Amino acid sequence: MSYVSLDKNSDIILLEQQIDGGMTSPIGELLFSFLDLDLREYADLYHLISYENDFNYNDFKDLCLTYPKTYTEMSKHRRGLPTESSDDDTLRSFAAYFLTENKDTFSDLYEHPFFSFSTSMEAAWYLDYAEIHDQIDFFHFQELFKNLVDFCFLNDDPKLSRLDKESRLFLFSACTPRFRFLFNTKNAFLPYPYSLYSKIEGLAAESLSKLNIGNYKALDILPLLSDSIIDEVSDRSRLLSVGSCNTVFDFLVFEFEAILFKGLDIKRCANCGKLFIPSGKYDTDCCDRIPEGEKYSCKKIMAQKRRKQKVNSDPITKEYEKAYKRMYARISSGTLEKSDFLKWSEDAKQKRDTASQRYSKSKDEKILIDFKKYLENK
Ligand SMILES: [Zn+2]
Repeated sequence: MSYVSLDKNSDIILLEQQIDGGMTSPIGELLFSFLDLDLREYADLYHLISYENDFNYNDFKDLCLTYPKTYTEMSKHRRGLPTESSDDDTLRSFAAYFLTENKDTFSDLYEHPFFSFSTSMEAAWYLDYAEIHDQIDFFHFQELFKNLVDFCFLNDDPKLSRLDKESRLFLFSACTPRFRFLFNTKNAFLPYPYSLYSKIEGLAAESLSKLNIGNYKALDILPLLSDSIIDEVSDRSRLLSVGSCNTVFDFLVFEFEAILFKGLDIKRCANCGKLFIPSGKYDTDCCDRIPEGEKYSCKKIMAQKRRKQKVNSDPITKEYEKAYKRMYARISSGTLEKSDFLKWSEDAKQKRDTASQRYSKSKDEKILIDFKKYLENK
């Protein structure tokens, strides 16, 4: 089992008690990156093994050929590999290995914290396919949460526009029974980092062996706890209210609800098309990510694009740019002092903005003619 929480800065925290590990991530990033995974091949494989289809020994053999490294690992670690006489359930349980522990593909999925912190992989080892197939339907989860983000944040259907985000979530889950059916997080209270818990647990075990009693009280342990441990416990900022999560679905729900109940917004970036949470006080429709192969963030790229568009579509700005270039060239040719240029450009900018505003309203050619005259443009 793993735990998930929010810290004071609204970062998502994932905790894994087995390995005493943990990680933090800015809110939204884990959810959005999961929705971005390419799970089409996974979906095909999931569908092949699903109960809607007959799955036979030949299908299983095909999988072994398609994913040879996985098959080799499986033969090393699992006994009783299927034979022609194996029943459907055995075949499917072994085939699930190709979904949850594939050595040939799906590394993007496995490296995603929602997967690596979930117990889906362990479950695949110990349980029948029938018991886990619901919780490893990752492609379906993607679809579900893409729809959910759209339903609660992006869609402007008139009916939805009348509802706030919480009401939209309620309506979505009421209309989507499987959504609630899959939901099973429970709340707990744990320290971060988790090592404090293990430390105290270790001391308790030590005390137990010293006291040599079966039923000890927490008070019996107290003498063993140093002041510094008590200080750590008293630092309430370390104690987190956490949701306990087993499945990828649990993590998805937690992060989605955290965004929603914190009153944050989700938008689709007008430049790269990815989802993002707008930050800062300015209204923006672009994210801060730097797209692959680019030097600047989407926000900056879009601002440049819009400036260019504006120059192209607004004749006033076009005239200004023309005059600006001419005047600027005069500095290097020595016919204009830099200070005079600055004075000119400040005045010209003001006149440009006023003229541009008036022109966009009336489209009166006289405004353009007057501005050109002022700039001494031909
Ligand atoms: Zn973007």
